[in-house]
Amino acid sequence: MAARFLQDRLDADTSDHKGPHLLCPCGHEARYAGRRPKTFESALGPLTLTRAYYHCPTCQHGFCPRDRELGLEGGSLSPAVLRMVGAVGSLVSFEEGSQLLHELAGVSVSPRQVERDAERLGVEIANDERTLTEPLSGQEVHGTAYLGLDGTGIPMRKEELQGRAGKQADGSSRTREVKLVAAWTANTRDDKGRPVRDPGSITYSAAIESAATKDTDSSLSAFAQRVEREAQRRDFEHAERQVVLGDGAVWIWNLTSELFPDAIQIVDKWHAKEHLWGVSKDIFGAQSPQARTWVAARYEELDEGRFDALLAAVAGCAEDSEEARKCVGYLTTNRAQMDYPAFEAQGLCTGSGVVEAGCKAAIGTRLKRAGMHWSVSGANAIIALRCCRLSGRFQDFWERRCLAA
Ligand SMILES: [Zn+2]
Repeated sequence: MAARFLQDRLDADTSDHKGPHLLCPCGHEARYAGRRPKTFESALGPLTLTRAYYHCPTCQHGFCPRDRELGLEGGSLSPAVLRMVGAVGSLVSFEEGSQLLHELAGVSVSPRQVERDAERLGVEIANDERTLTEPLSGQEVHGTAYLGLDGTGIPMRKEELQGRAGKQADGSSRTREVKLVAAWTANTRDDKGRPVRDPGSITYSAAIESAATKDTDSSLSAFAQRVEREAQRRDFEHAERQVVLGDGAVWIWNLTSELFPDAIQIVDKWHAKEHLWGVSKDIFGAQSPQARTWVAARYEELDEGRFDALLAAVAGCAEDSEEARKCVGYLTTNRAQMDYPAFEAQGLCTGSGVVEAGCKAAIGTRLKRAGMHWSVSGANAIIALRCCRLSGRFQDFWERRCLAA
């Protein structure tokens, strides 16, 4: 009834007829071509609105001034429903999102349409994100500020993987890597005086994009630019201390040295231990008690800063284990970034999978679920939407969007 009432009120108002001619966005003159009906899904139920329609003979496009006034342009959802679609599309599969909208709000939007409109909104958010390069009020980091950089693979559609090398037996790939930057502070202390991540301080930005910069390139890689923007939004450069945590991948330290030469570089201890566990499994087998004993000794050496002993123990296995050989390289390259006793003495957070957990929260739980196969554009749109919401930026985006309409 409410929908019917609104529909009648809007249809009785014909002020959206602005005369026989109206300027088309292309710059030419569009002609009035009568009133046309279209059904929109609103929070009150379906609304069939009969709106003044203008057609442009030059660019062959048509438009309705009322759609623009009401924020209905470019789709068939009211702004409130589009916002709900954005919320569910960022959280659950499009199928589940469609069901939730029906159950919770009584609105009917097909899974296909949830997909289309959540992605459309995600593209808008991704474009908006590129323009936000000033510190965001209330999101500036203080004290010791952390950036975590990581990558995680998500399953892709076959056609998106043509000619890309991967880890499958035949050399093909099933995934593409999403690169993520997380920013947070850890000025809180636990009862033992160790730094703990401040609740609510973490924000994310991520995409499937390149982090490779050639020496001959004059501009930063797409991902380096993303990291720079996130740092600007958090006012990272004005923090008292800057720390970058990574998994030890070379591209991460290259990017860090280029963007933040003063930042302290730390290999997230969780990753360092994961590497050592990989070696132990390779030598003794995952189920063997020896694997646990061996790795416990290595963890202790790592924690206590007995790096030479650690390196010697791993190198001692290099003849029989490919993993150990690789690990020697990893430890040698990242030695300075694994000086844990020194970092801990300075009250720095050495990571306990904060970045890994962030990757899971921002990407894994939504994009790595069984049976999902993404296109690059679809994944990037949903990632942008998700990062925006998890970073507490959706409301601001929405307000800017309404002002622009
Ligand atoms: Zn035109």
